[in-house]
Amino acid sequence: MSLINKQNHTWLLFLRQLGLEYIDKSWLVPLGSSCRCAGGSSLKYKKGLTVDNDLPSTADIVVIGGGVMGASTAYHLAAAGAGKVILLEKETYFGQGATGRCAGGVRYQFATEINVQLSIASLAMLENFEQDTGQDPLYRKCGYLFVLTQEAGVAKFKSNVAMQNQLGVHTQWLNAEEVQARLPMMRFEDALAGTFHPDDGLADPNSVVMGYIQSARQLGVTAFTEVSVQDIDTADNQVKRVVTSSGSIDTQVVVNAAGPWAGLIGRMVDLELPITPIRRQMLTTTPLPELSSDFPFVIDFAQSLYFHREGTGILTGMSNPNEKPGFDQSIDREWELVAMQAAADRMPMLENAGRQMGWAGLYEVTPDAHPIFGATPIDGFYLVGGFSGHGFMHGPIAGKLMTEIILEGKSQTVDVSSLDLARFDENRLIFEYNVV
Ligand SMILES: Cc1cc2nc3c(=O)[nH]c(=O)nc-3n(C[C@H](O)[C@H](O)[C@H](O)COP(=O)(O)OP(=O)(O)OC[C@H]3O[C@@H](n4cnc5c(N)ncnc54)[C@H](O)[C@@H]3O)c2cc1C
Repeated sequence: MSLINKQNHTWLLFLRQLGLEYIDKSWLVPLGSSCRCAGGSSLKYKKGLTVDNDLPSTADIVVIGGGVMGASTAYHLAAAGAGKVILLEKETYFGQGATGRCAGGVRYQFATEINVQLSIASLAMLENFEQDTGQDPLYRKCGYLFVLTQEAGVAKFKSNVAMQNQLGVHTQWLNAEEVQARLPMMRFEDALAGTFHPDDGLADPNSVVMGYIQSARQLGVTAFTEVSVQDIDTADNQVKRVVTSSGSIDTQVVVNAAGPWAGLIGRMVDLELPITPIRRQMLTTTPLPELSSDFPFVIDFAQSLYFHREGTGILTGMSNPNEKPGFDQSIDREWELVAMQAAADRMPMLENAGRQMGWAGLYEVTPDAHPIFGATPIDGFYLVGGFSGHGFMHGPIAGKLMTEIILEGKSQTVDVSSLDLARFDENRLIFEYNVV
């Protein structure tokens, strides 16, 4: 959920989406107290009586997880006529996991061809998202500006930009003076160079998730919140049944789209998936009237420190290189102070800003920082996960590719056969350098 000035608009939009859904299915009961919902709200809603709360006992496909991957996969499966599709989300609302806690950044600038190709396909889908789903994804092209302060980064980014240009992605190379000229409100005396793509930017995670969920429901998907998958039964190496907190569903096909929790779902079929949850956190500031309206998404690459405009303030975050794997989503106050100081050192106007809101979420990290698509050694058990910090932007295409893999046997729109689970055992890793 986006914050500060955008929060009212986005939050109302989110509620309206929920409200529309709940007109058919249940009532929303305003409690009037405060909670944080995927980025902040001043309202709390309780799910009331539902008229469609019986879990079906059979399905053609069960999708586990109501974040961007599950929502996109369910939508694309339904659009392709995949039969009876059920989506299960354990939380009270969809998109409360990594998706709702993410920075909303979307970019073409990656270090591997496959990630650039995923961006080309996925950002085109964001452009058409409203036409396809009726929901505006609030895609705002403010550009991403990577600032490079170390020689190693300069050399690597130079070859990345050449590769991106070859693929038709017109990322611009900036020298040190050009970086400083574009960011007069920041201190980058140590900048060596930078890269900029004007069509990189931001989109709204909840709009994307709810756009897909609503459209999927219209296409016949049954999507449940507050249903937690607890086990998966198999026989003769084939998926047979999904056991949930609300009953069991007989099915031959399961899609594990559980994001940072994908490893726990894998263990239900005795698979160890190389997806590690790692906490990341960010905060937003009170309004900064001096901030220019065209301020881009700025990344101080060496520090993994980023800034983008959020309403009339700034959203900023910095990766903690010492963060240990785990499911803790509480805010690390000590690290927040370190990150705030680093941010103020780069952007002195932050010394006069207040902290508006902060939160933490989980990256779902793989050993090569690339996602995992497709089949697994268990028949009928599919995986879409491990996007390592850039899954929101690749969510639209990921759901389409999963649909192609499940229904047609292989990905068609982008060939992601190299991003299979087997690559970890077969030593075919492809490293992504542009991880923030
Ligand atoms: C702080 C932060 C900043 C980020 N910034 C960006 C960014 O700027 N751009 C970008 O592209 N990406 C960003 N990402 C990464 C992005 O958020 C993720 O890659 C993406 O959202 C993953 O989507 P998902 O659907 O796989 O996971 P999730 O959104 O986590 O969805 C998985 C869902 O599965 C549900 N689930 C888990 N277990 C069960 C169960 N047993 N039963 C039922 N449901 C279950 C969870 O509740 C959850 O809702 C960021 C992530 C974080 C944490």
